[in-house]
Amino acid sequence: MIAPTAAAWRDFRTAIGPEWVLTSEEDRGTYSDHFAADESRHRPAGALAPADTGQVREIVRIANRHHVALWPISRGKNFGYGGPAPVVAGTVVLDLSRMKRITVDADNGTVLLEPGVGFFDLYDHLQANHIPLWLSVPGNSWGSVAGNALDRGVGYTSYGDHAARICGLEVVLPDGDLVRTGMGAMSGSPTWQLYRNGFGPGWDSMFCQSNFGIVTALGLWLMPEPEAVMGYDYEFDRPEDLGWVIDTLMPLRREGIIQQSPSIGNWLRSAAVMTTRQQWTHDKGPLDEKVITAIRERFKIGWWGVQIRCYGRQEIAEASVRVLDRAFAGKPVLSRKPAHWVRGDPPEGSPFTGVPITFPLANANWHGGRGGHIGYSPVLPPRGDLALDQFHRTRALYEKYGLDYHASFALGERSVVNVNQLLYNKDDPDMMSRVDAMFRALVADATEHRYGEYRTHIEYMDLVAATYDFNDHALLRLNERVKVALDPNGILAPGKSGIWSRRT
Ligand code: ADP
Repeated sequence: MIAPTAAAWRDFRTAIGPEWVLTSEEDRGTYSDHFAADESRHRPAGALAPADTGQVREIVRIANRHHVALWPISRGKNFGYGGPAPVVAGTVVLDLSRMKRITVDADNGTVLLEPGVGFFDLYDHLQANHIPLWLSVPGNSWGSVAGNALDRGVGYTSYGDHAARICGLEVVLPDGDLVRTGMGAMSGSPTWQLYRNGFGPGWDSMFCQSNFGIVTALGLWLMPEPEAVMGYDYEFDRPEDLGWVIDTLMPLRREGIIQQSPSIGNWLRSAAVMTTRQQWTHDKGPLDEKVITAIRERFKIGWWGVQIRCYGRQEIAEASVRVLDRAFAGKPVLSRKPAHWVRGDPPEGSPFTGVPITFPLANANWHGGRGGHIGYSPVLPPRGDLALDQFHRTRALYEKYGLDYHASFALGERSVVNVNQLLYNKDDPDMMSRVDAMFRALVADATEHRYGEYRTHIEYMDLVAATYDFNDHALLRLNERVKVALDPNGILAPGKSGIWSRRT
């Protein structure tokens, strides 16, 4: 299967034009995982960049004929999870970034996007056309709106659960067939982006974090520009504050007073973006209390900080902020900075008001050298005591493996996601072996507590999939039965989310 033959490359060139078949060493490097110490582990055989859905279908037919494995990406900026690189080295990347059509329904607050549309593209489009709709952007907004939603990325606003806002897909199946989900299954339907369920089984989430199809258009709901955005940036002094902060916020989250996902992060979140480790210490071991105190003083931050924003009509946002005030009254808050934006004010300019950003990518430079990071993010029940327990166990692992504690706890409506960042210098082999060992230790520890990860790096997809073990891995068996039915030749993204058509 792996490594396309000369005849396969020839057919691809005929189908999409030779200039869009990318096979040089430089091309293969471009589509590798730039955060990997050993880029060859997931180095593709090359890349194909089709212009439209018709060409995608043709590529899929050729891939079946020649048994070539394809790895679809939208813009391939999924850093920390493998970037554009495939699970299996020698797979051909299917780069959809040339497909950039945007169709906005301003009245109903929806958009139909091709996969190449980046967050910046969509932002510019809405600005240029004075459309009063806001994006929800992730911390690295360099990528595409569709790719991020399909990998279940998250953002800062009340539309921050991106996969939950998908409404209707167009998908090329592994045999080249073309399907539209939801109401799009009725040709010419005016409600494709308006009503999610359609008729019968729903398929939108079947194409998230999966290898069942290539999404060539994605419908998404966008937030109507609110009248006001209000809230606070809170800082808290002690590690133990994490527990009561979660228990204070969760009821408001469940009630819908807080509609975005507050992310409670530690002091390294600021320091790693704004400075490098060498500016603080030359010690190799874990950062000591003196350094932590110096970082906190410099950035005027607590051990933990959280930014909470309420969106919508001004009177409702103001009332929500009063509820927040009452919830935190008498609690040991270190500091509280109000955030207040009302329509007509100058743009606030942050991701909380839907503006794309890339500066958090700077944390890859924390150790100097050629940096990178990987995340491990288990999902917890929304309880302060369990989160504190998770914090203590995880921090002990950071100490054991000599890495700097960098974590956040993001509050969903009924769960907490504990995002642990492992920052590294990929040219330090000793550090890289500790990162790998620690990642495995984190998986083992969370699994012992029956916490599963929500999304993972290409290197660890089998490992994480194996932790979902109910009834001897029945879910994996189900996924693989669907996979074999849709993709008997196993041409599409082998190994994505631990799903294989046949073990190779
Ligand atoms: P971004 O464009 O946001 O950087 P990527 O293109 O890196 O996101 O996509 C993240 C992951 O989601 C990919 O590795 C791939 O597994 C999956 N994916 C992205 N786009 C598509 C698509 N159009 N169809 C199917 N899967 C996709």
